Parts: sequence; C-alpha cells; structure tokens
Amino acid sequence: MLRRVRHKLRLINYHSATRKTTAWDRAADMAFFASFFLCLPVAYLLNLTVTRNTTAIDIMGRFVQDQGRTIARLNQADQQRTSTFTGASTGNFHLTIVESLRGWPLTTSIAQQPVRLDLDILSEVKERPNAQLAADDPLRLAIERALDEAGETRALQALKSGESPVRQQWIAWPIAAGVWWIMLAIGSSIAIGMARLVTLWVQSKFSLRKAQLRAEGKCSNCGYDMQGLEFNEKCPECGSLVW
Ligand SMILES: [Zn+2]
Repeated sequence: MLRRVRHKLRLINYHSATRKTTAWDRAADMAFFASFFLCLPVAYLLNLTVTRNTTAIDIMGRFVQDQGRTIARLNQADQQRTSTFTGASTGNFHLTIVESLRGWPLTTSIAQQPVRLDLDILSEVKERPNAQLAADDPLRLAIERALDEAGETRALQALKSGESPVRQQWIAWPIAAGVWWIMLAIGSSIAIGMARLVTLWVQSKFSLRKAQLRAEGKCSNCGYDMQGLEFNEKCPECGSLVW
C-alpha cells in the first residue's frame, strides 16, 4: 500500500513541470516562513510596548455625617433623585480605576492599575489627591460599605485587595499573531519585490550603457575607443572580450 502511494507520488513528481526557482523566489519563501516564526514574538513585543489607558471605573460620591458616624453616598443619577437622606455633606471623593490596554492591533492583555482615590474633605484645608488610606480608616470603611451596597463589586475588590491584576485576552493572542504574520509576509514580499525591481533597473541601465558603448565603437568594459583599430575580439586596453 505504502509502496504504491510512493510510486504514485514519484510518478506525479516525474510528470509535473519543474518550477523554475530563482534566488528571489527562495528569498520570498524564506521570508514567508520567517514571518511565521516572527509573528508571535512581534505580538509579544507590542504587548509590552503599546499601551492605551482607559478609565474603567469612575465613581464619585460624598461623605455625610449620620449620628456622629461618617457614611459615604455614591453620586448616582437615579439615587440622587430618590434619596431621602438629608445629611449635610462633609466632603467628596472620587474613585477611579485606570486600565492599560496592551498590544496592537488587538488588545492582547489588560493591566488594571491600583485604585486611585481623590479626597476633598471640607474640614481639611487642602484636597488629598491619590490618598492612601489605612485599612481601618473610617473614610475608607465608609466607601467600602457604600460600594458594597451599590453592588460595585469590582471597585470594592480592587480597593480591598490593592492588587493590580493583568487579564490576558487569550482569544486575541492568536488573532494578533495571525494579523502580524500576514502583515510581515506582505511587507517582506513588497520589500523583496522592490529589491528585485531595483536590481533589474540597475542591470538594464548597465546593459544599456554597454550597448551604447559598443555602438560607438568603444570597449564595453572600460570605454576605450577602438574605432579605426584593426578588428580584435579583445580590447587592447583592458583585455576583456568585446565581441
Ligand atoms: Zn577595454
């Protein structure tokens, strides 16, 4: 069975036209394979270098005093309207979580940055941008309670853990690598095509110059004027074959 298959293959090989391969064709083939092996490292490199920041979570709120206790209220459009709470505001807070989208042309990973908390307490002279609150700080506990009540689990988790996790976009990785393979393959074939054109152009210029010299009765190699000389297949100046 195997022998018959091999025999058939040999027959096919024998009867098919041989493809004329030039150095240019081989260079194009090599570039295609090189693109395949390079596409993943390139995608990885762009995952490290290209980042776009977006604000993933943006929550504003205020602090109020309720029977001597500080509680936090989130500024939510619908909550503000229906809120029956009438405590005087003692300050504002602004909680943001920025995410870095990494990679190009697709986002291959998302790095969540630590929670940023800006405080503006009315009884304090200055605002506290990017405040670092201790775990048992009453302001922090108040914010955590408010986030919990509002169902802002992601913000709550980030605030509590203080971690900045990286989420890999596993589906995007092979797609990004594939896009890079196509781009590298097209780019290299364009570069090889251009190099080929330039070489052809230089070669045609060169042969044109030779033909011109020959028509003028000069040596095509060194340009020595052989007009009026006896017929000679070699140039008397440089010794190269002229005819
Ligand atoms: Zn010559």
